[in-house]
Amino acid sequence: MPWPGLASQVAGMLTPLVVLAAGCGPATSVVSPAGSAVAGISRPRIVATTTVVADLVRQIGGDRVAVDCLMAPGIDPHSYKPTPRDADRLAGADLVVASGLHLEGKLAGILERLGDRRPVAIAAEALPAEDLIAVGGGLHDPHVWFDPKLWSRCAPVVAEALARVDPAAAETYRERAAAYATRLLELDERLRSRIASIPPDRRVLVTAHDAFRYFGRAYGLEVVGVQGTSTESEAGLADINRLVDLVVNRGLPAVFIETSVSNRNVTALCEGARARGHQVVLGGTLHSDSLGGPGSNAETLEAALTRNVETIVAGLTVATGLEEATGEP
Ligand SMILES: [Zn+2]
Repeated sequence: MPWPGLASQVAGMLTPLVVLAAGCGPATSVVSPAGSAVAGISRPRIVATTTVVADLVRQIGGDRVAVDCLMAPGIDPHSYKPTPRDADRLAGADLVVASGLHLEGKLAGILERLGDRRPVAIAAEALPAEDLIAVGGGLHDPHVWFDPKLWSRCAPVVAEALARVDPAAAETYRERAAAYATRLLELDERLRSRIASIPPDRRVLVTAHDAFRYFGRAYGLEVVGVQGTSTESEAGLADINRLVDLVVNRGLPAVFIETSVSNRNVTALCEGARARGHQVVLGGTLHSDSLGGPGSNAETLEAALTRNVETIVAGLTVATGLEEATGEP
């Protein structure tokens, strides 16, 4: 279930939140002018839910904070079930940072209970409803990090939450958040010019689930997911046939798979199109709800979005053919 109640609950939690566990206090007096913590001194322990959120915390907290990410790279946050060990990790956190907007569906209960004892900040809470994409039932599409301009506005939420946990470095966190937001705006410009190189009639992104709607809105691509905005809803044969029609009728050269979602539906879609004589390829693997692991060249949001855009540009600008365009992410 989504967590509509949690968002408002959590907003209230941010005010009285300075509950520091013994030994995890701010490293005020042991920080160099550059803001780096001295080795051996305990740092605030920040637990992030997803790899995307962990990246945001690292960008702003730098090495003043220790970031523990609950979900490993490649894990699907919609279906992620917390383990007993996660409960311990959360209980030991000085601050928990979540993405929000019902992304972390099955963590909602545990975060709600935790909220009485530990500060919880929700990145997407910075965004007003009018800037979000409604998905029905009063809910909004949670995949806001695909629009770097939107995500840049989530940075201050994290900066303020860190400032409450570690007040001595409040200004450092605010400055880092502002610098990071600026970088995201620069990234936005670069991505925009790359997408503009795709012929307009090919700016259609077909993927495994509906994660890319903010991305499509930001850069002028039509986006279609085989599954809905949550991987928790199963795609039926009718959905796949509808997409086969789309791919064949629009003559799309490529469709895409995602690192955190099964390839099954997209593969069925390709087979359906081929059965009708249209050669469509798997254009490559996109990072959707998870960043890449070490060595993936997609460990940060900036790197993952850049990589995604290069994959999309390559896939949609190649001539239609039988070969699979790229392999692993
Ligand atoms: Zn998703």
